[in-house]
Amino acid sequence: MEYGELMKMAVTARQSAYMPYSHFAVGAALLCSDGSVYTGSNIENAAFTPTVCAERVAFFKAVSEGKRGFAAIAVAGGKEGEAPDALVAPCGVCRQVMMEFAFPKTFDIILAGSSENLQVYKLSEILPLGFGPENLGR
Ligand SMILES: [Zn+2]
Repeated sequence: MEYGELMKMAVTARQSAYMPYSHFAVGAALLCSDGSVYTGSNIENAAFTPTVCAERVAFFKAVSEGKRGFAAIAVAGGKEGEAPDALVAPCGVCRQVMMEFAFPKTFDIILAGSSENLQVYKLSEILPLGFGPENLGR
């Protein structure tokens, strides 16, 4: 799948964001190794701690349905009611979740406000020296 198409899916997923507190809407589209795509949006909570990011929603949906191989994730975010910002990078917690399920040197993170002008990073670039399953012998 072309990354521009994946980004469009992230932008669409952003429309489902539940963010009554931050008013910051994020959508993510996770491309699995088998070509399937799982989307997510951020889901906030009045108690704040249960809040979950779009990237983790996408990963947990995929993992809970048995997916284990992942190729890339597109992330689109910005203020509610506005076009996505050019660069909304995954938070540290989401990077750690990606480290659990993706190969850091091959997994692509696609950032952009639209399907044009994409910026692509490897997980190993945005989480250098990450701690993952290999550190525990897996
Ligand atoms: Zn996050």
